[in-house]
Amino acid sequence: MSLIVVGSMAFDEIETPFGKSGRIIGGSATFIAWTAANFVQPINQVSVIGGDFPQADLHALAAKGVALDGVQIMKDRPSFYWAGRYHMDMNTRDTLVTELNVLGDFQPVIPESYQGSEFLVLGNLSPQVQISVINQLQERPKLIVLDTMNFWMETALDDLKKVLTMVDVLLVNDGEARQLSGEYSLVKAARKILTMGPRYLIIKKGEHGALLFHENHVFFAPALPLEDVFDPTGAGDTFAGGFIGHLAKTKDISFENMKTAIIVGSAMASFCVEKFGVSRLREITQEDISARLEQFVELVNFDIDLV
Ligand code: AMP
Repeated sequence: MSLIVVGSMAFDEIETPFGKSGRIIGGSATFIAWTAANFVQPINQVSVIGGDFPQADLHALAAKGVALDGVQIMKDRPSFYWAGRYHMDMNTRDTLVTELNVLGDFQPVIPESYQGSEFLVLGNLSPQVQISVINQLQERPKLIVLDTMNFWMETALDDLKKVLTMVDVLLVNDGEARQLSGEYSLVKAARKILTMGPRYLIIKKGEHGALLFHENHVFFAPALPLEDVFDPTGAGDTFAGGFIGHLAKTKDISFENMKTAIIVGSAMASFCVEKFGVSRLREITQEDISARLEQFVELVNFDIDLV
């Protein structure tokens, strides 16, 4: 079972009320790959980096089962760079800098070896690149999941609306769902977004969990209450990696299995926030993942008597 992951590979610089990361490795596709590789291999990565991206990080990804044939290296140019600062609540942040650099004119090329992949996750990057990837696939994957953010709603709305008509699942946070739909109520926002293309919509609400909408059904998964949230950067991408990773591993794309997949996504995201960048994701083992999923089962399991 193979999965194509498209997205940014970046240098990030993060400030939280509790510390500064300095220049570290990030990017939507980096978080997704580190997460999804725990469930399915190979991960067929599609991205672009500059000559400044550390070789050691590429080797570590390859050792985790991530194929890098679709990652273009622009030797003489800088990688994508993003800087952000979190507010005291750690749920909201300001983007301080977005330097697209090599991402600005990225023309993805899908290697022959990636053709026939059954799952595709289009991580956060330009909708034009996302469309180009779908168009290059000779066979439509079983499931296409799209993640995006307010930056693209503001700079490339027409392309974003086009790619929405080509995918099965959209992942956005609550603010982005409101921005995209023009509705404050998330139920109304979901109803509107589900007419724009995707059949499934996941609205992430940070420490308040995630909602899955499909037709007239809604399912809610909480986030694990953690004592300390160190750095939320990449939590959304990690969620996406866990979600698609579980679906690809089980090869079951029913709504029922998507409920399990959003619990898996939430469990993986709870690791991501424990350290800066991908550092926590790099250390966890299958045992850590199983133990965290158990914690989730206990968190959401209730047995009540209604009489
Ligand atoms: P998240 O916290 O899940 O929204 O993802 C944060 C990651 O997204 C960081 O590692 C950034 O490098 C990356 N990122 C931020 N802005 C963009 C953008 N406009 N396009 C692609 N990736 C981005």
